Amino acid sequence: MDRRRDRVHALLEELKALLGDGGVIEGAEVAQRATSFWDARPHQARAIVRPRTTGEVSRVLAACHAAGHPVVTQGGVTGCSMGADAQTGEIALSTERMRAIEAIDPIGATATVQAGVTMQSLQEAAREHGLLYAVDLGARGSCTIGGNVATNAGGINVLRYGMMRAQVLGLEAVLADGTVVSSMNHMLKNNAGFDIKQLMIGTEGALGVVTRVVVRLHPLPSSRNTAMVALQTFEEVTTLLGRMQREMAGTLSAFEVMWDNYYLAATEPGGHRPPLARDYPFYVLMEAEGADPAADAVRFEQVLEAAMEQGLILDAVIPQSESERRALWDIRENFEFMMANRTTYLYDVSLPIREMAGYAAEVQASTAGTWPDGRTIIFGHLADGNLHLFIQPQDDTATHAASDALVYAPLTTRHGSVSAEHGIGLEKQGWLNRCRTAAELDLMRTLKQALDPKGILNPGRVIPPP
Ligand SMILES: Cc1cc2nc3c(=O)[nH]c(=O)nc-3n(C[C@H](O)[C@H](O)[C@H](O)COP(=O)(O)OP(=O)(O)OC[C@H]3O[C@@H](n4cnc5c(N)ncnc54)[C@H](O)[C@@H]3O)c2cc1C
Repeated sequence: MDRRRDRVHALLEELKALLGDGGVIEGAEVAQRATSFWDARPHQARAIVRPRTTGEVSRVLAACHAAGHPVVTQGGVTGCSMGADAQTGEIALSTERMRAIEAIDPIGATATVQAGVTMQSLQEAAREHGLLYAVDLGARGSCTIGGNVATNAGGINVLRYGMMRAQVLGLEAVLADGTVVSSMNHMLKNNAGFDIKQLMIGTEGALGVVTRVVVRLHPLPSSRNTAMVALQTFEEVTTLLGRMQREMAGTLSAFEVMWDNYYLAATEPGGHRPPLARDYPFYVLMEAEGADPAADAVRFEQVLEAAMEQGLILDAVIPQSESERRALWDIRENFEFMMANRTTYLYDVSLPIREMAGYAAEVQASTAGTWPDGRTIIFGHLADGNLHLFIQPQDDTATHAASDALVYAPLTTRHGSVSAEHGIGLEKQGWLNRCRTAAELDLMRTLKQALDPKGILNPGRVIPPP
């Protein structure tokens, strides 16, 4: 025990010497941080190391690899699967001092950034050049580009621009033993050999630490039209999606569905002001982005009016200002208060759109049958085949495992997945074999073994033991 403590002490002294002042924090300074956005308990890491460059990340990992010490990589720690939550004794490698936006190329429409740059700061920097960084999600102020790469983040604009994988052109990463793999491609096309960046996108930090990224930018839209609408049936929601996609000629950028249980919870006393009556079965928040403000607004309203005249849309609200638009988005994005004083199990599943209504009804029935005093809240990125669920049992005997079974088990026959965009982390390993074959899991283990033979990077996460 003493020898182990001495080894860890020696490793931390080595890391302090490598990183200099403020490079390593320990003790009370670590414990005063929360575990994550979702978990207010004290941070559990033995120490948080804060490199500033790829070279420093390389030296930190080489030292940890030599010592065989576990390392968890942390960006904004907003991830929803506990992948970045430090476990007792782990060293957390934070990218919080890697916040440089190195270059924006307006001609090639690319940005080159360090991994710790937040999503919002890149969005703002791109906007100054008349460009759009298209991945967008509620944690934009804290989540990092490195975290977005590692989780293959989705969010609210996937329908128009794709997930993070579609934005990454190149990246630089450090492998477990400190080897730097620089693959800073700037082109849309490059089929010269294996596409190395794909090893890091969506692999949740299990194969390496991403240190720099080249992302695509898009032309900044000059018009944006938003509406929240109410509908009677899920079938009509899907009809509206098809119509909006067709009639807005590919400019539809968001189509967020909320079941009545979500809208009721979001607009209960103390929550958001309801812009529409609270007794409709479905609500959709949708947005289209284009290049001709006057014509786009007319077109958007014409399509909505026609849908209302035909009875497809029961009621609608169109914001008249940016603050009104923000208030509509707050209903969809600011939901933390719904969890106050309630045990909440959060889910992120994907399944074919045609299966969604039946799946939602099945989960609502089974959770209500199991926890009659609880509530089930359903919403999501409909066009991406992605639903989020909050299961709130209101029953002291309820367990996360029991809730998992009610949510995940029905996915198998419906060809769904236990993670649409949040990843597996520490939370969902036990369910990975429901949506991945044994051969796929074996290949994941082979890659992990090849790139991180001592298993020091994000140990125990993503890939279940054989
Ligand atoms: C309010 C809210 C709304 C959200 N909405 C969405 C949404 O719509 N869509 C969506 O996809 N997600 C959403 N999320 C989840 C989360 O924001 C994303 O998963 C985000 O990409 C995580 O970024 P992060 O920097 O916080 O990563 P972290 O939480 O710090 O890390 C997540 C994972 O990535 C790894 N990692 C982090 N940085 C690196 C790196 N540089 N190199 C290698 N591995 C790394 C970590 O080890 C961990 O496994 C939401 C979260 C919140 C709090």
